[in-house]
Amino acid sequence: MPLFAQDTLHSPLSIPLWFSGNFGEIRTGHFHTGMDIRTGGVEGVPVLAAQTGRISRVKVSDSGYGLALYLDGRGLTTVYAHLSRFHPDIEQWLQTTQYAAESWAFDGPPGETFGFEAGDTIGWSGNSGRSFGPHLHFEVRDQRTQWPINPLRWTLVGEGVTEDDVPPEFRGVWVLPAGDCEIEGARDRFRWSPAYGESVRVAGPFHLGVEAFDRLDGEPFTHGPHGIDVFLDDSLIHRHRMDTLDFSTNKDVSAHIDIAAWQDRRTRVHRLHRLPGNRLDIYHKTGDMTPLAVAPGDTAQLRVVVMDLPGNISTAEVQLIGDSLRLATDTAEFSLLDHRRRHRLTEGRIGIELPPGALYGDAAIALVDDSSGTFSVVSEARLTRSAYQITVPVPVAWKGTGEPMVLCGIDEDGEVDGTWVADERGGMIGAKVKQFGTFEVRPDTVAPVLGSPRLVEGALRLAVEDDLSGIDRWEGRCNGQWMRLGWEKGELVYQVGDGILTDGAEIKVWAVDEVGNLGHREFTWPLK
Ligand SMILES: [Zn+2]
Repeated sequence: MPLFAQDTLHSPLSIPLWFSGNFGEIRTGHFHTGMDIRTGGVEGVPVLAAQTGRISRVKVSDSGYGLALYLDGRGLTTVYAHLSRFHPDIEQWLQTTQYAAESWAFDGPPGETFGFEAGDTIGWSGNSGRSFGPHLHFEVRDQRTQWPINPLRWTLVGEGVTEDDVPPEFRGVWVLPAGDCEIEGARDRFRWSPAYGESVRVAGPFHLGVEAFDRLDGEPFTHGPHGIDVFLDDSLIHRHRMDTLDFSTNKDVSAHIDIAAWQDRRTRVHRLHRLPGNRLDIYHKTGDMTPLAVAPGDTAQLRVVVMDLPGNISTAEVQLIGDSLRLATDTAEFSLLDHRRRHRLTEGRIGIELPPGALYGDAAIALVDDSSGTFSVVSEARLTRSAYQITVPVPVAWKGTGEPMVLCGIDEDGEVDGTWVADERGGMIGAKVKQFGTFEVRPDTVAPVLGSPRLVEGALRLAVEDDLSGIDRWEGRCNGQWMRLGWEKGELVYQVGDGILTDGAEIKVWAVDEVGNLGHREFTWPLK
């Protein structure tokens, strides 16, 4: 681990710290790179500089971190995300910059120097960007590499931090068949927990996974453990630690975990073997794709140690008993595709093309065209490391109409869970996607709908609704002058305090979706 100039940081909030998320916990598509700190269900809690330094980056976005500040000092960058408002000096500079560029979104170093002492108020907490309830996302990075580091490596000085005397929770060991394998007399994956007994019978090659999570005192939330050690007959076979992460490989969390267990039941199963495409740098020791085996009549003792950062640990032991195969060999097994090679597959009217390395590891893939209008790419791999091409036909009723079509991902309940803009060529459309599952082509002919303008606490608000592709861009003008319209959870928001509205002024607002459908609304100021 790198050494830094300080071993304490100022608490980033003016209230005692209660965490709803920790560093390294598993989220969909990434490990969490900071601490989520509760703000009592409200916005507007003062956010304090964790260190003395200057603002190196300001971000204003409708997604991700929303409104965020990056503060550099003594080798560290501290990050404060999902804010509602910045320090008035930063707000003033930002407003001028936004009007000059006629752009609400911003991401870069500020054009002026904003220096703060540790403990100074730099902004106020909020719920902006991809946030599902008011909280502060606090992150500490190595300033040089911008790699996030576990913030609990520093003592946070201030109003206090939740004590953590609760050890992580060990839940189970997953035994995953790797070929011709039986576990407890069946061919399915098997979840062992201490309640089951002290041993598991295994015949043939298998992989292992560990299900565990951490809890902080008095908190209902489940977090990620700081690390897991696994020993087989006293020799270390797996060790990983959540000390630091790298944004460029962070999405490989999907290869670290059993992705099917996560997607289907939000179960956190850490694989003890490394898929070939997994580039994460969190392993001190881990297995490769060579399966484990215990010879018939032999036994092996598996010991799992799960730990949190303050040093609380939980351990579990299970004996693996080698057994002989008893069931008939499964002949219906799909052949695995080599992840290092290019693959073109077709079935009926659906085709896919996977570039070399698109898969995290060798996987079986089946295509389904059942003539119902939906198409499926079925694989236990569930998703890919890099995008692959999918080609499906446009529904007959829409062929050649020139209407914008989108490829929709359809979840188990038949709901759209993702859309990709696609071009029609010869009655077929193609898109680059990173997930397997069920797809359907639908027309997106409906323009965004802008609701009636409302005045709420000094802000002009218009709700915007769009089906399928979603809002791409928007613009508002008052007597021709650009208005600073921000995006907040499905609403366009203008701060009346910006001062460009005049009595009798004509206001025009547009919103355009991802395929180019345009919706607009015109009204006069003041609102009637
Ligand atoms: Zn967060």
